[in-house]
Amino acid sequence: MPERKKIKVITPLVEMDGDEMTRMMWQMVKEKLLFPCLDFDLKYYDLHVKKRDETDDRITIDAAEAIKRYSIGVKCATITPNADRMREYGLKKDWPSPNGTIRAILDGTVFRTPILVKNIHPTVLPWKKPITVGRHAYGDIYASVEMRIEQPGKVELVYTPAGGGETLRRTVHDFTGAGIVQGIHNTDASISSFARACFTLAWDRKIDLWFSVKDTISKTYDAHFRAVFEREYEQNWKEKFTAAGLTYFFTLIDDAVARLMKTEGGFLWALKNYDGDVLSDMVAAACGSLAMMTSVLVSPHGWFEFEAAHGTVQRHYYRHLRGEETSTNSMAIIFAWTGALRKRGDLDGTPEVAAFADRLETAAIETVESGIMTGDLLLVAEKNPANRKVSTEGFIDAIAANLALKMA
Ligand code: NAP
Ligand code: MG
Repeated sequence: MPERKKIKVITPLVEMDGDEMTRMMWQMVKEKLLFPCLDFDLKYYDLHVKKRDETDDRITIDAAEAIKRYSIGVKCATITPNADRMREYGLKKDWPSPNGTIRAILDGTVFRTPILVKNIHPTVLPWKKPITVGRHAYGDIYASVEMRIEQPGKVELVYTPAGGGETLRRTVHDFTGAGIVQGIHNTDASISSFARACFTLAWDRKIDLWFSVKDTISKTYDAHFRAVFEREYEQNWKEKFTAAGLTYFFTLIDDAVARLMKTEGGFLWALKNYDGDVLSDMVAAACGSLAMMTSVLVSPHGWFEFEAAHGTVQRHYYRHLRGEETSTNSMAIIFAWTGALRKRGDLDGTPEVAAFADRLETAAIETVESGIMTGDLLLVAEKNPANRKVSTEGFIDAIAANLALKMA
């Protein structure tokens, strides 16, 4: 790109580098798309698995603490070590998932949004705008207690108040033969923080919020989720939402699924832990590729962490190490950066930074729409003689060329 005045980003961004194929793409995205256009201060934390090992994972905690100071972080995908990875990298320990560590420190909810392009059609025909899934990431079956019942007998729920007082009992089931039983829980603190994060994101993006549970059947458990969301709406958002023409829409989960198939999309769908787990995969699959899914952790304290939804693309990395050409898609990585930059621009009151993020996203989308794409997209794109599969680096170069035209 020719020399020109760079756009100044006032407040530093927290950058978390990662592993394997995504680490390579990370570097290319910075060098070819960001550094030529931006004058910014990056607080760099290297979360490469060896660095985490060397620092006894201190670096991950430091990165999360830095996000608390600067409000916005952008993260590359990282290896969550298992036994194979410990051997591969000679690690001291199978360190925990960095995402889990960061989430625990920032106390957030994860939102996933597909990136839509004109020449890749969602398999659900009416979908025109992205559907963001907000998944509650605490409790329910992910923190359940289960029992196999072998013989007839009674299973009860028993609550013993910590400060003394009357013990509460409910019969779950009087078994006359063998069976199974499960105990699940959630907390008001976690549900409230989930609700706040959902309203905050919907407000931030100026999109409607849907929430759905099965409170007709679960009259205490799911009904409580609904009540917490309604209270949060009434107390903190109703006026703002109404003034901005935004809707908070509660409906039963089965009704929501049925309606979903007939909507244009363009809203946030907040879901309980299991529902969000299952239905976010459905939305991703219906939109084409894992590499076209962005992810942001929104903390109720006003901190944001942006990343791609996919992992380190290990298989492609091994291919690269064997000297083979790769065609790995950097769209979600680019959108992690643009998401972070747009938010930074909004918080700093620097519309030129947000405008740069818009331009870069447009350049990336137009590149795919012109037929220049990576292998994963070629498989699902509308057939066209203009379609051409390019290498990992070739794809970023094509976006850089397109961006240069927009910046000129
Ligand atoms: P993955 O990296 O998401 O990749 C799974 C498969 O999806 C790839 O083999 C590839 O399919 C396709 N794919 C994903 N991203 C792609 C992209 N950008 N371009 C083209 N194709 C893409 O998951 P994984 O291989 O199971 O995990 C690898 C490592 O990532 C693991 O060590 C795991 O711990 C870590 N991980 C990290 C995060 C995170 O940091 N957020 C999330 C998930 C996993 P084909 O091989 O068929 O082309
Ligand atoms: Mg899932």
